[in-house]
Amino acid sequence: MDSKIEQLQKMVDMSSRIVFFGGAGVSTESGIPDFRSVDGLYQQHYKYPPEIMLSHSFYESHTAEFFDFYREKMLYLKAEPNEAHRKLVELEKAGKLAAVVTQNIDGLHQKAGSHAVFELHGSVHRNYCRHCHKLFDAQFMLNSTGIPKCECGGTIKPDVVLYEEGLNQQTLQGAVEAIERADMLMIGGTSLAVYPAASLVNYYNGNRLVLINRTGTPQDKNADLMIHGNIGEVLGQLH
Ligand code: ZN
Repeated sequence: MDSKIEQLQKMVDMSSRIVFFGGAGVSTESGIPDFRSVDGLYQQHYKYPPEIMLSHSFYESHTAEFFDFYREKMLYLKAEPNEAHRKLVELEKAGKLAAVVTQNIDGLHQKAGSHAVFELHGSVHRNYCRHCHKLFDAQFMLNSTGIPKCECGGTIKPDVVLYEEGLNQQTLQGAVEAIERADMLMIGGTSLAVYPAASLVNYYNGNRLVLINRTGTPQDKNADLMIHGNIGEVLGQLH
């Protein structure tokens, strides 16, 4: 076994309140692309960068265009959990993992079977009528055309945190408290570039800070263990 994986295994073995904090890289192994990685194909299809199309002001001013983009680029309802999601479920069942904090909105942690999940940026699986607050699922959104409407006439808005919008304070507080109490913080599949989510690392007080990412992050110098690789491949080697 790789010596870094061995170190990771030892840290997991001696921990009982692990918090996993994950980003887009956790879902790419399930075939969900990171929308921030703008490719040529994308640029041919849309007039604006994703940060604009997924902003609150764009939603308000170009609602129909927002939903065209949203249905095509944000809804991957056939995606299945990968090795990373499954290993985190195992750790939760074994009483070693306290919570998953995720920046992803695809619901794959819950689909895999995780219970304690803080979705910082919301979820595509919850969509509410802005008028009567009726709940709609992601399949309804995918099947809709134009601007999705409730039978009451209200527009249905995904429970997803758009650019320019604040995080849900209750979710954020829950994530902060879990990280403060954690005896190990495992961060995977994120470049820790998106604030305020990235600043959550600062609430961790322990000495088992692990970073697992394909590229470097601004927190590398603070990590007790750093592993460069795909999160699913790395976690899949734990027993
Ligand atoms: Zn309604």
